[in-house]
Amino acid sequence: MSQLFLLVTLVPAAMMLDFGYHSNKEMERYLLRVNDSNPDIAHLYSIGRSVAGQELWVLALGRSPRRHVVGVPEFKYVANMHGNEVVGRELLLRLVDELVAGYRANESWSLQILHSTRVHFLPSMNPDGFDVADSNCYLSQGRFNRNGVDLNRNFPDAFAERREERDPERAAREAEVEVRAVMGWLRTETFVLSANLHGGALVASYAYDNSNGGGELVGRASLTPDDDVFVHLAKVYSHNHAHMHQGETCGDQPPFREGITNGYQWYPLSGGMQDYNYVWAQCLEVTLEVSCCKFPPADRLPVLWTDNRKSLLAFLRQVHLGVKGRVLDASGAAAPNAAVEVSGRRNISPFKTDRRGEYYRLLLPGNYTFTVRFPGHQILTQTFWVPYGPDGNSALTHDFLLRRAVDTSSARCRTAATWPLAALAAMLALYG
Ligand SMILES: [Zn+2]
Repeated sequence: MSQLFLLVTLVPAAMMLDFGYHSNKEMERYLLRVNDSNPDIAHLYSIGRSVAGQELWVLALGRSPRRHVVGVPEFKYVANMHGNEVVGRELLLRLVDELVAGYRANESWSLQILHSTRVHFLPSMNPDGFDVADSNCYLSQGRFNRNGVDLNRNFPDAFAERREERDPERAAREAEVEVRAVMGWLRTETFVLSANLHGGALVASYAYDNSNGGGELVGRASLTPDDDVFVHLAKVYSHNHAHMHQGETCGDQPPFREGITNGYQWYPLSGGMQDYNYVWAQCLEVTLEVSCCKFPPADRLPVLWTDNRKSLLAFLRQVHLGVKGRVLDASGAAAPNAAVEVSGRRNISPFKTDRRGEYYRLLLPGNYTFTVRFPGHQILTQTFWVPYGPDGNSALTHDFLLRRAVDTSSARCRTAATWPLAALAAMLALYG
């Protein structure tokens, strides 16, 4: 056996990423190399193609990279949806590199993440925009997709004035291909937590980005029923970042207290991706603005990586907040599409179990009352304490075991009659 062969087999294959900007082709080659060299933990797949026909590559890392495992949450990082905001794209490639290298070197931080979570990386949602991006710090050349559309204004919006813009099915048919690809992706897995990386500011911004002046509007902010969780998530990022929490300003922008903001309070926008994730896909997503300059010189990338490394990892671990488990029907089988609601949190679209009967609910430590509804079964209400999960790399596991309703027909009526008024009101507001 030659020395060269030994060297090639012993050096982790992923540790080949240089600091610098990578073209779409270079990025593709790198992701393929990670995939081919690490079949036990890596799985490269495409969620679709851009307008110009470029693949929208996603790399999944985890102990079961190709398929979901019950109890293992799905997490995602998305970058470069604005083609000229390029730092996030390189940060994600760097994070992939370190996670794989750490796993190969048996480092506990990487083993803990990849044994407890499946992490999906979409380093570029807008590769066509990237191809024409100007390296100017503040201008928007390359921001849009090939059709000149801002992808972060192109998702169905629960607060949109026009009814058709609220309808996920209809809006999906009319959306740009990159947006449709992400919407389709969200249907393939129940993503629990996500971040969407941008540039041009230094702040962690959380839902809602929009409002129609309803009960969500509190002062100048548009607050979700899970505002406490969103504020926590945003602070986890800003306080683990080298200086985001200090509320530094970029140019003439106002300072952000603790480096976080409610999206609407910063500036309202319609058709954003984070609201769509939360409202329609029950995935809590935070928008991370990771550099004042959208396209900084390549020699700034090592510092930007150092600034963001700890926060990227800390945010990822928050996927273990709260409680997870399954809803089982009276025969012990998985109950798909069962509503699992938390008292005091009136979600526009109630959180439901997936096809495996699984649910995930990100919650801060506390005592919570859960109500579970499934056709033909008695409504189940339980109250219990939810501890802080991220330190132990797991949310609390709690299965809900349902009992069959005595009389199925009357139980159906009862279910309809006791459906929370808030949910009914929200649905009327949406579709009325
Ligand atoms: Zn952006």
